[in-house]
Amino acid sequence: MRFSGFKVVKEALTGHRGWKPLWRDPEPQGHYDIVIVGGGGHGLATAYHLAATFGQARIAVLEKGWLGGGNIGRNTTIIRSNYMLPDNEPFYEFSMKLWESMEQDLNFNAMVSQRGILNLCHTDAQRDAFRRRGNAMLLAGADAELLDQDGVRAMAPFLNFDNARFPIKGGLLQRRAGTARHDGVAWGYARAADQRGVDIIQNCEVTGFRIENGAVKGVETSRGFIGAGKVGVAVAGSSGRVMQMAGMRLPIESHVLQAFVSEGLKPVIPGVITFGAGHFYVSQSDKGGLVFGGDIDGYNSYAQRGNLPVVEDVAEGGMALMPMLGRARLLRMWGGVMDMSMDGSPIIDRTDIDGLFFNGGWCYGGFKATPASGYCFAHLLATGRPHETAAAYRLDRFARGHVIDEKGVGAQPNLH
Ligand SMILES: Cc1cc2nc3c(=O)[nH]c(=O)nc-3n(C[C@H](O)[C@H](O)[C@H](O)COP(=O)(O)OP(=O)(O)OC[C@H]3O[C@@H](n4cnc5c(N)ncnc54)[C@H](O)[C@@H]3O)c2cc1C
Repeated sequence: MRFSGFKVVKEALTGHRGWKPLWRDPEPQGHYDIVIVGGGGHGLATAYHLAATFGQARIAVLEKGWLGGGNIGRNTTIIRSNYMLPDNEPFYEFSMKLWESMEQDLNFNAMVSQRGILNLCHTDAQRDAFRRRGNAMLLAGADAELLDQDGVRAMAPFLNFDNARFPIKGGLLQRRAGTARHDGVAWGYARAADQRGVDIIQNCEVTGFRIENGAVKGVETSRGFIGAGKVGVAVAGSSGRVMQMAGMRLPIESHVLQAFVSEGLKPVIPGVITFGAGHFYVSQSDKGGLVFGGDIDGYNSYAQRGNLPVVEDVAEGGMALMPMLGRARLLRMWGGVMDMSMDGSPIIDRTDIDGLFFNGGWCYGGFKATPASGYCFAHLLATGRPHETAAAYRLDRFARGHVIDEKGVGAQPNLH
């Protein structure tokens, strides 16, 4: 079934009886060439690229819950490629380019909206740092513009420019950045992977790995043993727990990140805006809700709910930036479990166990990475070699001291 304007009109005229489920609900087979653990954005994108880009067959995605129930359906939907370090920026720009063609590739409306992201600066030193980051982005083929205060005022006149502590001096703008409908991305990849023969198996929890003579032979699941030639793990916030079952201890901590949405308002925020003097970011959804968030809860947790100190901290950040926010009513809030790596950058690598591969450590920036993460993980699984834009995302970089610390804050996950 292909989606098109013609199809919508035809269904409207014939009682909407021709729509079909987006993917099948297959029983697990005894053996697959490649098993992907985790049906979030990264697992589904990997399965899609394995089948569509790298010509692999006999692939299954095993998901313990339902598609979209993890972080792919809990994030604040921001996509961007405004990184600075040479190990990061080409990867995220590759992802941005894949976002730009994704809806056509998948034949699915994921509501990719390039409405721009504006990072505000509040000191001269911060402006210098933004100029440097913008130049690094341009060198990697991304777009970047440095705005002065008047430029920011023209875009977002409602901001608190003259706050005594945090005056707004300008901002770094990436116009091609924006938002995408998060669960739609999961559904789009799932549908496109399913059409190419991938078995997507929900309610199937991986409970162990069968490892013989240093090589993975398959996974134990809540629906029985499933054999596999190769296993790729992409379980985000559950990374530590799942890889522990293979005897591995990861340089990753799990923390909660909360998000908030207000009642629906008339259009007011032009794109995504981030506060440079604290941790607060905001955008407006297509339904009109202000979607915003801030820091992770500072303690380790696997609970998909957060605590009140962060709510207060986020509200304070929002009020310092946009005092009018205090007039809006909060509609709901939620939390997701983040796989925080020690340097704030991800891992896409093979492990010491033959045939077992790992993708994780996305911290709270993994949604924007979904297309490139899927592509690069599929590249590694299919060819055995890392993709050139993900070559630095090695598991052993912590032992080698070659960390990729985008923020320069050291080995403190709660600060990345
Ligand atoms: C509140 C919040 C806001 C965020 N905002 C942004 C943002 O604006 N921009 C951005 O780029 N990123 C953002 N992120 C981060 C982003 O959502 C994640 O980094 C990314 O979604 C993680 O990858 P995933 O989609 O594959 O994860 P998930 O969707 O969590 O997928 C992992 C899957 O693995 C499954 N799983 C776990 N254990 C097992 C098992 N044993 N067996 C089988 N399956 C298992 C889980 O059920 C889950 O479905 C945000 C996250 C949160 C929580």
